[in-house]
Amino acid sequence: FTLFAWFLLAVIVGFGVFRWSGRYITPEHELRQALELQEFIPYFQPVVSGEHTHWIGCEILMRWSHPTLGVIPPDRFIPLAESCNLIMPMTQMLMTQVRKQFVPLVHLLPKDFHFAFNISASQLKDFNLVEDCRVFIQAFSDNPVKLVLELTERELLVTDGATERLVAELHKLGVLIAIDDFGTGNSSLKYLQSFNVDILKIDKSFVSNIGVDSHSVHIIDNIIDLATRLHLQTVAEGVENEVQAAYLKARNVTSLQGYLYGKPIPMEDFARQFYASV
Ligand code: C2E
Ligand code: CA
Ligand code: CA
Ligand code: CA
Repeated sequence: FTLFAWFLLAVIVGFGVFRWSGRYITPEHELRQALELQEFIPYFQPVVSGEHTHWIGCEILMRWSHPTLGVIPPDRFIPLAESCNLIMPMTQMLMTQVRKQFVPLVHLLPKDFHFAFNISASQLKDFNLVEDCRVFIQAFSDNPVKLVLELTERELLVTDGATERLVAELHKLGVLIAIDDFGTGNSSLKYLQSFNVDILKIDKSFVSNIGVDSHSVHIIDNIIDLATRLHLQTVAEGVENEVQAAYLKARNVTSLQGYLYGKPIPMEDFARQFYASV
């Protein structure tokens, strides 16, 4: 009996230790803790108009400001956040921070300045997104801004009635939908068919090959042509030099984004540079 009791005790203690350590060391728990501690922060990258290269908006890119590891880029934690359903509260946290930081400065923003957030496919099934967008837009009612949602394609979005209704609600609020990394995923054309899209984002993998590889240039020309036929705006990302910029401007790409105009930077730096530029 004593042997059995010892065995039982060992199992109970062992399980407890497993649970305890599991709670503290799984990457999922780390993400949850980081969410509670508000360690996910927005970085801002300027978007300029293709016509006159003025700042017309920005893309918000998430960073994890880790207490010991420093600033962690999104590719390292977004896929996990998507798979354990934390991406929604993380996006909410980002939208709240951006709203609180920019509402006091709203009178300084040009009319229709746009804020583009990245969303994951699963978020187009969650009606909380509509509420979050409503709150964001209403906070800027004194000087309206444009809200853009960039749909990324890491997870496959299977569109259904709910997605269509959700996108319709977003459009009623004036939110614009962009397809991110257009041409690199496997379902982008399907998206165009399934719901109303407003913007195509030309991926930096194509832009970086302007002047290098004629295939990529043909692909860009075709994306622009498709956008024109469907009356969609175009945004080119990853613009790093004047050759690329000149090519895209000559083809009337609506807006440009890339290191040539500015890298993603924290709020304080972005605000400082922005007000220096106006
Ligand atoms: P993305 O949406 O395609 O964003 C563009 C990425 O290219 C960003 O990387 C940006 O920093 C980088 N980039 C911008 N301009 C240039 C350039 O001129 N040259 C080069 N080489 N790179 C440039 P980042 O910030 O590491 O983000 C990576 C990806 O993580 C994003 O790709 C996006 O898919 C995802 N992501 C970022 N923030 C969020 C978020 O809040 N939610 C979700 N769901 N995904 C996010
Ligand atoms: Ca994006
Ligand atoms: Ca992307
Ligand atoms: Ca991209």
